[in-house]
Amino acid sequence: QAPVLAIDGPGGAGKGTISRLVAERLGWHLLDSGALYRLTALAAGKHGVSLEDEARLAEVARGLDVVFVAEADSTRVLLEGDDATTTIRTEQVGDAASRVAALPAVREALLSRQRDFRKPPGLVADGRDMGTVVFIDAPLKIFLTASAEERAHRRQRQLREAGVDASLSSLLKEIQARDARDMQRSVAPLKPADDAITLDTTRLTIPEVVDRLTELLTQ
Ligand code: C5P
Repeated sequence: QAPVLAIDGPGGAGKGTISRLVAERLGWHLLDSGALYRLTALAAGKHGVSLEDEARLAEVARGLDVVFVAEADSTRVLLEGDDATTTIRTEQVGDAASRVAALPAVREALLSRQRDFRKPPGLVADGRDMGTVVFIDAPLKIFLTASAEERAHRRQRQLREAGVDASLSSLLKEIQARDARDMQRSVAPLKPADDAITLDTTRLTIPEVVDRLTELLTQ
């Protein structure tokens, strides 16, 4: 079995950026599991499937026609042949994703697709339940956190770069609501695996976190 670095944590803790950089440095594959939940929500909307219809949502998840195209420093996402790279990042799709992610049949439907990403020389898996459910035997599990305030600041900066103005208080509210939903759901609630190492990135720069993780992997 190829090794897996499982990186879990709340939204906005920097998992996406950190996972991509660590995967690049190691020459490992990358799984953005959140993108699969976002794509399920988006595909459901496209096909008129209600976010309450668990059985049909699971079918949508199982049948997802998605292609990830690795580019210089990002990944292009194609859903049924259409570019969905920016659409899946909207707040609206993120919110819908966290709703479909609370449904056990949807999580089950996405399991084997996620495990298929595990190939030599290794996989960096980014999500909420990588270390607790999907790759329970991962040799290294990291729980990446940052204070909700810091995550709201980071999100605001990101949006500003994209030309969008958002108030800090509304972003903070959204982050707290998403955290609550992810932590309180009955299936695969967001929490560190028993054997995970927790890393608080509130006061760390991105290169510092990447260095720390590569250090831990080679120990
Ligand atoms: O990480 P990202 O913000 O893209 O994830 C979107 C939503 O998908 C999260 O709010 C979470 O509810 C869900 N998710 C999950 N399990 C994962 C990855 C994401 O439940 N492994």
